[in-house]
Amino acid sequence: MNRGKLYVVSAPSGCGKGSILSEVLKNNKNLFYSVSATTRSPREGEVNGVNYYFVSLEEFKREIESEGMLEYAEFCGNFYGTPKKKVMEKLEQGFDVILEIETVGAMKIKKAMKDAILIFILPPSVSELRRRLNKRGTEEESVIDKRINEAVDEIKKAVYYDYVMMNDELEKAIKDFEAILKVSKLTIENNRNLIEEVLKNA
Ligand code: 5GP
Repeated sequence: MNRGKLYVVSAPSGCGKGSILSEVLKNNKNLFYSVSATTRSPREGEVNGVNYYFVSLEEFKREIESEGMLEYAEFCGNFYGTPKKKVMEKLEQGFDVILEIETVGAMKIKKAMKDAILIFILPPSVSELRRRLNKRGTEEESVIDKRINEAVDEIKKAVYYDYVMMNDELEKAIKDFEAILKVSKLTIENNRNLIEEVLKNA
């Protein structure tokens, strides 16, 4: 069985990546979404083990020390990290894995795992991003300002990704995301065995 592919998805908070990913995951049963650990408090409606593993700073540090994290980063005063074991298991089993992480963690993955595919989702504009964050109403104004500043810094790093797409219309964004998944499977690296197969009986 072929090893799965690792996809790293980054998008500033409020870009609607959650809506894109939930639809894509529904349509693609071979995709596994890696649930991260975080020291941030749960937002209303968030469920432990589904949206995140909500852990204390001590637990988070213990995981780092025991090399249980594939990557981690501090973002807006909280720690976020990818539990390593599950991701590696799923890749070995042939599942494709999605990490939804910010840019510092994404760059760490790019360096450590050369065949990872990095996808950046852009908002239509920074003002639209602010409007969406205000509408979501889960954060105070000062936190929103902080997140907008972070978003601008993150968007500058999109140039280091393999693919960039915009979420200006959900249906289109889902199609774009699935097109990236599809095309990333059609590379020479992925299909050497196919070429050999065809040539075998030449
Ligand atoms: P939020 O607090 O809005 O859920 O997430 C804040 C940021 O942390 C988002 O950009 C999200 O993608 C990122 N994030 C979530 N999980 C991880 C992780 O495991 N590692 C890293 N580096 N970033 C993460």
